[in-house]
Amino acid sequence: MSIFCIGRNYVAHAHELGNEVPTSPVIFMKPSTAVLAEGKNFTIPSFTNDLHYEGELVLRVSKEGKNLKGPNVLDYCDAITVGIDFTARDLQNKLKEKGLPWEKAKAFDDSAILGKWTPLTSKIVENPIRFSLHKNGTIVQDGDSSLMIFPLATILESLTEYFTIYPGDLIYTGTPVGVGPTHKGDVFEGYFEANQVFSVKVNP
Ligand code: ZN
Repeated sequence: MSIFCIGRNYVAHAHELGNEVPTSPVIFMKPSTAVLAEGKNFTIPSFTNDLHYEGELVLRVSKEGKNLKGPNVLDYCDAITVGIDFTARDLQNKLKEKGLPWEKAKAFDDSAILGKWTPLTSKIVENPIRFSLHKNGTIVQDGDSSLMIFPLATILESLTEYFTIYPGDLIYTGTPVGVGPTHKGDVFEGYFEANQVFSVKVNP
């Protein structure tokens, strides 16, 4: 199973980290070992002093595809949810400065939180999708898919220009503005529209 991730897919988020707005999707990957098992607490890794949460919409691939184009590309996905792309921001900044790959900062064990799936219907695809991340009961990220620089369909087209997608692959679609630090004891809850799809506790 491959986990594809899109970086800098919302203008306000690119700006909050001082990044340029990209002209094509920024793509990186996590290994399958990055998914936190359901019901397990998250532990902040010892190699970072500035772990950031990034709440994101996540697509699940349901059909093999390559070089996808056109209005029906989302037929290759059957479900959607909200997840967190945990990022060791201090380490990522060091790697970026040196022009090195991000994997140590983004792809480590348990760095990918995944909520319960909602079937991806045409009604969901055709309308703006609202989602949010709550930290200790307070909303910290309020997402709206209509603010994506590269919409879901464009992400699939771009991704499959380079990679074959297979059933079960995951696509993290980028985080909106509002990323911030994670501390021991924090509790994160993800909401897809009005429904809570995950609750994860950070070990004290
Ligand atoms: Zn992200």
